Amino acid sequence: FLGSGEFALPFGNYMVKITAPSDHIIGATGTLMNPEKVLTAEQRARLQKAQDSTENTVLIVTEEEAIQNEKERSEEKKTWIFKAENVRDFAFASSRKFIWDAMAVKFGNRTVLAMSYFSKDGNPVWEKYSTKAVAHAIKVYSRFTFEYPYPKAISVLASRGGGMEYPMIAFNGGIPEPDGTYPERLKYSLVGVIIHEFGHNFFPMIVNSDERQWAWMDEGLNTFLEYLAEQEWSREFARRNGPAYSMVEYMKGNKKYMSPIMTAPDIDLNVGSNAYAKTSAGLNILRETIMGRELFDYAFKVYAQRWKFKHPTPADFFRTMEDASGIDLDWFWRGWFFGTDHVDIAVDGVKWYKINTGEPKMAKAIEQERENRLADRYISNIRNKEDIKETAVEKDESLIDFYDKYDPLKVTPQEEEEYKKYLETLTEEEKEILNAGYNYYEVSFSNIGGMVMPLILRFEFKDGSEEVERIPAEIWRRFNDRIQKVFAFKKEVKKITLDPFLETADVDTVNNEWTVQEKPEYFKLRKFERRGEKNLMQKVKEAEKKEEEGKEKK
Ligand SMILES: [Zn+2]
Repeated sequence: FLGSGEFALPFGNYMVKITAPSDHIIGATGTLMNPEKVLTAEQRARLQKAQDSTENTVLIVTEEEAIQNEKERSEEKKTWIFKAENVRDFAFASSRKFIWDAMAVKFGNRTVLAMSYFSKDGNPVWEKYSTKAVAHAIKVYSRFTFEYPYPKAISVLASRGGGMEYPMIAFNGGIPEPDGTYPERLKYSLVGVIIHEFGHNFFPMIVNSDERQWAWMDEGLNTFLEYLAEQEWSREFARRNGPAYSMVEYMKGNKKYMSPIMTAPDIDLNVGSNAYAKTSAGLNILRETIMGRELFDYAFKVYAQRWKFKHPTPADFFRTMEDASGIDLDWFWRGWFFGTDHVDIAVDGVKWYKINTGEPKMAKAIEQERENRLADRYISNIRNKEDIKETAVEKDESLIDFYDKYDPLKVTPQEEEEYKKYLETLTEEEKEILNAGYNYYEVSFSNIGGMVMPLILRFEFKDGSEEVERIPAEIWRRFNDRIQKVFAFKKEVKKITLDPFLETADVDTVNNEWTVQEKPEYFKLRKFERRGEKNLMQKVKEAEKKEEEGKEKK
């Protein structure tokens, strides 16, 4: 164990003999080879019972028995023999204080024993939670990766907090007050650390990456699965390292003191934030937003299965997530793992457009509204409504002419006729677009933080309904600082919100909202060049030909 980088070893087989005072109970990596020599008949019977107990724990050594054990101080010795195959290390715990419980997790006919060893200081929480947390983690982790291959998984009470992992055995911290009460957070931190340290069996004990170079490959992947397992443990579980939004405070910090996730753990100033939290949040962003749960879970499982009992490097993880899902994630690895840019995408503006169909009444109203729009708001005009009691024209009727009396919105028969002719020039498709009544919203985005992300947009309509659109991050592929996109709806939009579900770790959500202007702008439908219509050269040639023919006839 060498600081933040912990340790990395290849796989080996162990046969270990431990000679200890005969009142000690020993828990260790591997299968106990001589239970008849070191356990009482009753302990062996209880252990046998635990093999079939999938719902509840079975005490192998009770609290009363442990208290009794502690008093004896035996002079005799016993030798415990453990055999472990395909493990990257061996660890054990030995004490006369140990209470010991166990329960079974079944994989078909195969039984894995979840176990805990703890002193009476750990109760009541350890007896209630430790082994059940291990069993829970075995099931959840196996579902997301591969079936837990070892015969047992042990949680040992070793400290007041924190934990350290070894194959099949992890040392965990967390004890209640001497009076047996405990704060709520102790419950979650204990269950959390037990899940986490057990989880290291998968990363890096089996998917054996080099922690000393890439702490994120085990801490990050494990913290991510820990988060998933915690959510399945209780809906009340403190959501610490996992949610995208939990990274905001760290990621908007001073870049001078920030390293990329890829930094080696003993150099990195923020191992906790990078290797654990940012990696876990990044995987959640991939799962919830970029890849989707189904594809992500499949690719993640392929990675775990492809690299179990092997030594993957970061490229193996990146490549597997891409080739198993068929999604190009290079931009994400570069931004999230190799860089320190944060996410801050802003909605810079929204322009609302409707089509000016050219229908005379509508066209005139639009024209008039446009003319008056600025004047109506102008301060001088507002004041003059009151201040000018009577204009010259109002005073002197002889100044009034045709234009003062004529309703500017009145449509002439010629205008009706022109509109009819215009409609005849349009294709059926164009007519459909013209009359569909769509509202077009041109939304402008800028990438302030540097890290690109998909655009998740919630449109709130004036009728109170909502719609969410998801645009993949590839929208940034040509211009990664500023982009625009047009959205069309039959309903009128009131408000647009970017990242409404807080899934992209956007550090500033104040610039994510936009209230749409009160009145739309109008545009005329572009006249498309229609196929089959003759071009100008053809028309001129045709005219020339006709002229020639005319001459010949003469
Ligand atoms: Zn860890």
